[in-house]
Amino acid sequence: MRLLALAAALSFAGAVLAADYSGPLFDTHLHYNDEAQGPYPLPDVLARMQRNGVKAIVANSRTNDGTKALAASPQTSQAGVTVVPFVRLYRTRADYDNWFRDESVYTMVQTELASGTAAGPYRGLGEFHLYDSANANGPVARKLMALAEEKNLAVLAHVDDAAIDLLMANTPSKGQKVRLIWAHTGIGGAPIGRVEQLLAKYPLLMGELSYRPGLTCEGGKLCPEWRALLLKYPTRFMIGSDTWVNQRWAQYDDLMKGYRTWLGDLPVDAARRIGWDNAASLFGVK
Ligand SMILES: [Zn+2]
Repeated sequence: MRLLALAAALSFAGAVLAADYSGPLFDTHLHYNDEAQGPYPLPDVLARMQRNGVKAIVANSRTNDGTKALAASPQTSQAGVTVVPFVRLYRTRADYDNWFRDESVYTMVQTELASGTAAGPYRGLGEFHLYDSANANGPVARKLMALAEEKNLAVLAHVDDAAIDLLMANTPSKGQKVRLIWAHTGIGGAPIGRVEQLLAKYPLLMGELSYRPGLTCEGGKLCPEWRALLLKYPTRFMIGSDTWVNQRWAQYDDLMKGYRTWLGDLPVDAARRIGWDNAASLFGVK
């Protein structure tokens, strides 16, 4: 009898642990690019967020008009979505490979920062990419990192671990005071020990987890070493959709469901931090 009760209690605990995370989500890596706006008009993308419990987004779009449209529409607030706007550095795909040395990108950033959005001032810069980490030392990359620290703007950077160090070195505080969000926490799969080392070295470094290799294992559950890292640093990670191509909009429901599945592997408070609180406190979203 006691054994049966124990078995029942254990299976109940198992069921509770296995339940998907059901709290709010903060999508910290969302693009609403030019080519998305035809097939996925504003009411459609807002409906996708709403039905997935996405209550806030970091919006950064090529061009910035997509972000401004999200910020300005009364439908966005009606859908219960708060927009945290970032300045995207790209006007066209060609800017991906040249922004770090293109003075006209710096000028564009200044113009955007001065004008802001209907949802308020821009809160960050990026996403930007560095396919060769040495370009973190490009003249415009240096200026933008210094500007980010000076103006307390977050930075969303799709870079490798070597570029994290280089970008940080280009700020007045040498990376101690800049809010760098590492897109994908290293899409090339930086070793987990290296991720941990960077988190320890830079107290405001945050990891965004879309596309992160090795994060999830069988059944979409967290792999053990990642679960351990998230539990060691529960205040340092965030989730995002990365709707960089239209296919990601088509997959939006599945992406968010995937997050809810593995967040459900964590204790509720850690899940809520990663799913919502970390970004909400970073950007002052209630
Ligand atoms: Zn992206």
